[in-house]
Formats: sequence, C-alpha cells, structure tokens
Amino acid sequence: MSEFQDLWNKVREVLQKRLVPTTFENTFGEVKKVVSEENGVIYVLTPSNFIKHTINSAYYRNISEILDSISEKKYRLKFVTEDEIKPVEKKQAVEPLQTNNLNLNYTFESFVVGDSNRISYLTALKVADNPGFSFNPLYIFGGVGLGKTHLMHAIGNYIAEKNFDAKILYVQANDFLNDYSKASRINNFAAFDEKYEGIDVLLIDDIQMLTDRTATQQQFFKIFNEMDNHHSQIIITSDRPASKLNGFMDRLTSRFQTGVTVNIDQPDLPQRMNILQKKVTEITSINVDDEILQYIAENFTENVRELEGALNRVLLYSELYNTAPTLQLAKESLDVLIKAKKPQNSSKVNYEDALSIIANMYNISVYDICDKSRNAKHVLPRHITMYILKTRYNLTYKKIGDILNGRDHTTIMNGCNKIETELKTNEELKMAIDSIIKKL
Ligand code: ADP
Ligand code: MG
Repeated sequence: MSEFQDLWNKVREVLQKRLVPTTFENTFGEVKKVVSEENGVIYVLTPSNFIKHTINSAYYRNISEILDSISEKKYRLKFVTEDEIKPVEKKQAVEPLQTNNLNLNYTFESFVVGDSNRISYLTALKVADNPGFSFNPLYIFGGVGLGKTHLMHAIGNYIAEKNFDAKILYVQANDFLNDYSKASRINNFAAFDEKYEGIDVLLIDDIQMLTDRTATQQQFFKIFNEMDNHHSQIIITSDRPASKLNGFMDRLTSRFQTGVTVNIDQPDLPQRMNILQKKVTEITSINVDDEILQYIAENFTENVRELEGALNRVLLYSELYNTAPTLQLAKESLDVLIKAKKPQNSSKVNYEDALSIIANMYNISVYDICDKSRNAKHVLPRHITMYILKTRYNLTYKKIGDILNGRDHTTIMNGCNKIETELKTNEELKMAIDSIIKKL
C-alpha cells in the first residue's frame, strides 16, 4: 500500500504547488489517505461528499494528468468517503481490468435526461450496448457545458464495465494534435502508435480543435478508417455540426456524417431543476430547499457547468458560514456571479458595441443596420440587433425602435419573435448569435 500512498503524496505535493494555498487547504487539506488499490484503481479517502464532488467536478482531469506524469504505470484514482469504503472492498472484484482514463463519475446514471438531450442520451445508450455496430461514428455536438464530454465518458464507462478487456481511449482533440506533432517532430512514432493502435473504442473530444491542422487530420483519417474497418467504435464531440467544420478536409467531415449525429441543447427550467435536485443528493446530505434550487435554476440558464458551479458556491458558503443554506444566503453568495452575467447597464456605449459587432460580422455598417432599407443583406443583421438589444440589454421595444431609426414597437417585437422562432431550428443562426454574445 505504501507505494500507492507515496504516489498520492506526490500528486498532492504537485497540487499544493499549483493551487492557491487556501484553495488547496479547503479542498485537499484532509485528502491524505489511500485506503486501497485494486486492478489499477487507487482509492483515496475524502472527508465528505462535498469535497469528493468538488474534486471530481473541478480537479479530476488535472489530477489524472499529474498522476500519469509521475507514475510509469497507468493508474486511475477514485475518491471515496468513509461510508463508501466498505462497499468499495466488496466491489473490487468487478472493477475493470483494463485501465483507462475515463472519469468514473460520468455515467449514464448520473446524467439527467430531459428534452434537450433525450435523443442524444438514447442514441448513446444504443451505441454503448452494441459498440461498433449500431452507429459508427457517433457524432455529438452542442454548446459548452451541456454534457457532451459527460455523455461520451458514460458510453466508455458502460462498455468498460461489460467488456473488461476492451481498449478504450478518451482523448481531447488537442492532445491528439500534440501527440502527433511531437511524434512528427522527433520523427519517432513508436509511442504514438502504441497509444492509438488497436483501440476498440476511441472517444475524441472537441474535434473542432483540429481546424486547419491538415497533417493531423490526415493521420486521424487513417486511424478512423482502420478502426471503422474493424468495427471499432468512434465517438466524436464538437461545438458544431460536421457540415459546419470549416478548415477540415471534406473527406473527413463527410466520414463524420456516415454514422449518426445528435445534438445537445440548453436545458429548460424543469430540466435545470431536475439536474440541481440530483446534484444535491450526490453532493451533500443536507437538505436544500426547492426555492433555493429554483433561484439558481432561474438565474443560471446557459449551461450545466454554470449551474453546478452556482450550486457548489451556495454549498461552500453554507459550509464556511456553518449555517444551513437559505434563500438569503444563496442570493448573497451568487450575487457577484449573477451581476457578472448581466450586462452592467443599458448605457449607450454598451449597445453601440453590440451594433458595431453585428455590423462587422455581416460586413455592413452600423448605418445599414439602423437605416430603413429593405436590402436583404441588412434585414437579418437588423433583426439580430433587435433580438440582442432586447435579450441582452433588456431595452424596451420602444427604445430599440428609437435606436433603429424610429421604427415602431410592433416592428421590433416581430423582429425579435422572428429570431426567436428561427433559433429553434437554425443551427447556423444560433452559432452566429452565440459568437456575437461572446464578443459583447
Ligand atoms: P461539455 O463537454 O458539453 O462542455 P460537460 O460534459 O463537461 O460539457 O458537462 C459540464 C458539467 O455539467 C459536468 O460536470 C457534467 O457532469 C455536468 N452535466 C452536463 N449535462 C448533464 C446532465 N444532463 N446531467 C447531469 N450532469 C450534467
Ligand atoms: Mg467537453
């Protein structure tokens, strides 16, 4: 056991150097003891569910990387609480033999299903049930923090559980790029080949990172074809549909479309509530009132990562102040985050920024946006402007009408509605608007 204790001590030392002292103390201060090791999984004791969850959601990947860098053999870490030690001992026999780099917490069970992700979830289950033969590749796309990585790990974990000796590799497209660049640079592909040959299930995350990297794309194309010939399963995630991957070889993007494509949308309010309710039971044994969760769900709408972050913050405050979470406490602790999300105010400077960003993006002038012209080239950007001024700056229809050369409020309302309806089906428009919002 001391060998594993040593390993964990070393990981801890690296963490201590990298993290701010208070962060390190709050999270890792009491996470010292290795309780067991079995089949390449090292079990580390954590003092509470809360700490366990914090580590898993915020640090797991970094910790795995640190571990990989100091250990020659590949191990996985599993963080457990005192309560879990006993079941862990019993469960040891069924831990997968083949070690892999999957996050054990990203499972189908911990994935909350709703309208925004139901098709993706069901398709992923199908793929997990019959890898290589149902849909290959599986291509999952959607905005940040919506569960793409989680779902892909869930497939991997599911397969690993049933098929002990499957070689499953999770890799971020960026790491693939680095692996390949490194092998090319030193002109030695031994390590690269060892890593990427003979894989049964390849999970490649955020494929858009390979934009314009032709040589790496060619290498990926080769691996892809080889795997496909062997009915090895490939799962790809991306922030956009394959058809919109600019800077990619056509033959690659068309291969991506030969399997099945699914997408994950933003969760609606009921789903956000479900997610929060589930997370609460996972993280803590204390009771958190629905009114608190409701407050979080209403204020954090964009993605699940943000939602989780907000919940964690409320729980952290409640722990620090040593009181049960209340709505008041939630409001206090989230105040800064909520303010940071909202545009500071509807000042002139602010919305003028929006106008010029939109004009730039569509290669027209701010004058064109405000003008009365019905030129088709100007109409869409103008509608987008109405929509952005309404949703991001909270201006009244009347005020927006004034900005847009005295249009009346129904015209503005219609414009906003048009975009809203279009957004439900038009992926391209959604991406355009997302990128405008990012620039604001
Ligand atoms: P993406 O890869 O799309 O950026 P992630 O898979 O990293 O998003 O998800 C961000 C966080 O939100 C993760 O902690 C993940 O577990 C959680 N999450 C996302 N979707 C769900 C869901 N449907 N149910 C439970 N947790 C989710
Ligand atoms: Mg991801």
